[in-house]
Amino acid sequence: MTRVQSPALTHMCRNCGRHFSLHQVREVHAAEHTPEGEAEVLVCPVCGSYDLDPLSEVPNAG
Ligand SMILES: [Zn+2]
Repeated sequence: MTRVQSPALTHMCRNCGRHFSLHQVREVHAAEHTPEGEAEVLVCPVCGSYDLDPLSEVPNAG
């Protein structure tokens, strides 16, 4: 069991103000109207808001 180093926080929820890494907010949904057949959306896992901002400055994850 290899532990993966926790990814850097790259997104901020504009609704609740919390910071998340991409894998926490990323959801892939089936979307027949796209060439890939799926669409990626960003959802806050805490409050469920779709209003997420990518962080331009990634804090030092240590
Ligand atoms: Zn939120």
